[in-house]
Amino acid sequence: MRELHAQGGCLCGEIRFRIDGPALGSGACHCRDCQYVSGGAPAYIFVIDKASLIIEKGEPKAFESVADSGNSRKRRFCGTCGTPLFAEDSAFPSIVTVKAGSLDDPSLFKVSAEFWTRSAPSWHLFTPAVPTFQKGPLDG
Ligand SMILES: [Zn+2]
Ligand SMILES: [Zn+2]
Repeated sequence: MRELHAQGGCLCGEIRFRIDGPALGSGACHCRDCQYVSGGAPAYIFVIDKASLIIEKGEPKAFESVADSGNSRKRRFCGTCGTPLFAEDSAFPSIVTVKAGSLDDPSLFKVSAEFWTRSAPSWHLFTPAVPTFQKGPLDG
């Protein structure tokens, strides 16, 4: 598993965090909820252990809803600028997903799977040679 040593934050700078630990996965989530959060595209996310995420500045706000998976999903974002940052899933309490766009260097991200493709819009271009899944164990 690839070790991640990355820093990130929100658009306005109120929230700053770092990741120190292995990336357990990275993918694009096409669930309907992520389309709202991302503005239309899938959510591009790293999956990491909660212990690998250190919030260094600020306190993200949270919004909880029932996701396509049926799990309860808590999304964290900056209350000032609205940047989506992290999400937690009731079925996977030890992990957290981090939005690739919130990293200082988003080029660290690579799509290794696309999931919840059943709700992907017809105009989305899938990443070539990457496995796709109609559903997923967790929403981004
Ligand atoms: Zn902000
Ligand atoms: Zn999603």
